[in-house]
Amino acid sequence: MIPCLFMIGAVISTPWTHAIFYFTENGYVNSGIYDAIYYHTFFYIVASIVVVLFTFKYTGVRLKLSLLGYNLILIAGILLRKMFFHTLVTSYFSILAILVIYLFSQNPDLYWDKKIGVFNQIAFEEIVSDCLYKKARFHLIIASIDNYEVAKSVYGYQQVIESLQVIGNWMQAQFQRYYVFCFGNGHFVLFRKKKYDMSKDQVIEKITARFEHPWKSTDMEVSFAENTYVLPYDVMPSDTYSVTELVEYLINKVANADSAPFSLVSETTVQQMKRRKLVEAAVAAALKENRLETYYQPIYSVKERKIAGAEALARLNDPVLGFVPPDEFIEAAEQNGMIMELGRQVFENACRFIEKAKLKEKGIQFINVNLSPAQCMNENLAEEFIEIANRYGVPMNTFDFEITESAAADLTKIREQMEKLEAAGAYFSLDDFGTGTSNLTRLLSLPLHVIKFDMTVVWAYFKKELEIFPDLVKMFCNADMKIVVEGVETEEMSSELAEMGCHYEQGYYFSKPVTEEEFLKLL
Ligand code: C2E
Ligand code: MG
Ligand code: MG
Repeated sequence: MIPCLFMIGAVISTPWTHAIFYFTENGYVNSGIYDAIYYHTFFYIVASIVVVLFTFKYTGVRLKLSLLGYNLILIAGILLRKMFFHTLVTSYFSILAILVIYLFSQNPDLYWDKKIGVFNQIAFEEIVSDCLYKKARFHLIIASIDNYEVAKSVYGYQQVIESLQVIGNWMQAQFQRYYVFCFGNGHFVLFRKKKYDMSKDQVIEKITARFEHPWKSTDMEVSFAENTYVLPYDVMPSDTYSVTELVEYLINKVANADSAPFSLVSETTVQQMKRRKLVEAAVAAALKENRLETYYQPIYSVKERKIAGAEALARLNDPVLGFVPPDEFIEAAEQNGMIMELGRQVFENACRFIEKAKLKEKGIQFINVNLSPAQCMNENLAEEFIEIANRYGVPMNTFDFEITESAAADLTKIREQMEKLEAAGAYFSLDDFGTGTSNLTRLLSLPLHVIKFDMTVVWAYFKKELEIFPDLVKMFCNADMKIVVEGVETEEMSSELAEMGCHYEQGYYFSKPVTEEEFLKLL
């Protein structure tokens, strides 16, 4: 600031001190330090360029380019002014420089989600990084719609977008002390530069209460299910990237779990996120190095009294994390898109095993392979799998693909892939039946030929908490479906389920999922 203050003092005091210029009878005369105006401008331009270069890591490309452009234009202006001192071009160049800064980084369009009418994620990152840099306290309230996909398929995209606009407007009007941001897909983030005080807070209450009623847009009322998270300053990560990552982690958590409608984010959640990142990295490494293993759990045929098939299950043994539970790494892979590659590798492992060990000749009629709904969203899934099976010379009718009921899934797309695989000879099972909130009519419209009862359902029956189980079995038998029961752990369970009419049994009574060698020994 010293050169700047010095120059301001010199300019303002000029009428008395004649520091910059003065007048004689002949007219205007420059004083001794007139040139200092240029030197001090130059000083700031050079300093600014040095700062931009030394903070290269921390600023975005857009900001870097605009700041460099800004300074170069000013230098050009000063040089031209010096060379052709009769032309007053400095102001012209100054305005040009301001225009560059404006268009590149101050342009409001950059920060505004035009569809929803609130700030966007770029704006969020700017304000967060500013606060973190200044160590200013702030907190975030994340209001996340968890039935966005369903709402879209029920009401249509246009209706949902219009309702999100209504929600955005409502939030901005209600919580004027907050900035409202939209992270896409119905996730709102409220920001306030203040420590969170739960005892005084009414925001959560208001949001929760409002979401109990539908949102009225032009000609329809749309209902949303919503979850709220408060991210207080004490657990705030120290860099913008991690804050955004944490917010996205929370949003995904909402979309997946039926968690409590409101929760205060604690250190535990932050730890969970860190673990999730480690697991994601472990899966990525295993996929890259082809280290993912596939285990096989026998499926016992009641009628033939022997092992007739097996379910292929992915296993991740990481050098650092050890064995990671499949539920954990599968969920991580589903969320970041790695599930496509994971599914491909598991399928290829299964093909290789079937071919190498001549499983068919050993009496194995089918191998079950799990398919996540996310995998069926891949339009090339069927072609890719058929190509892999052909490469190993394994007929597609060896495979029974297990799909789970998932409300968020787009049935049209799943059906498309299923029909292609079915045409090539593959079968389909409905996995984990009884755990989700499925629309039975919608599900049964798919080409399924096996129902796999989830072990929680089977166990509930043996704990006498589900007396109607045998009737359910009968119902599906009458519909000409085959039944597999999971979680068969004892001889008693096995014989009772067999008597009930279940066709296949799977569980620790027969075997846990095992490696290829152990599976062959079992056979
Ligand atoms: P799932 O498809 O329902 O697989 C059955 C799970 O139940 C397996 O857990 C298996 O080890 C376990 N299980 C089987 N019998 C018994 C029993 O008698 N008692 C008990 N307590 N458990 C039993 P696992 O291997 O941990 O797999 C968990 C889930 O991860 C699977 O559930 C499946 O949804 C998913 N998964 C595993 N591999 C893959 C894969 O390659 N692709 C996809 N998309 N999902 C996979
Ligand atoms: Mg399964
Ligand atoms: Mg299952």
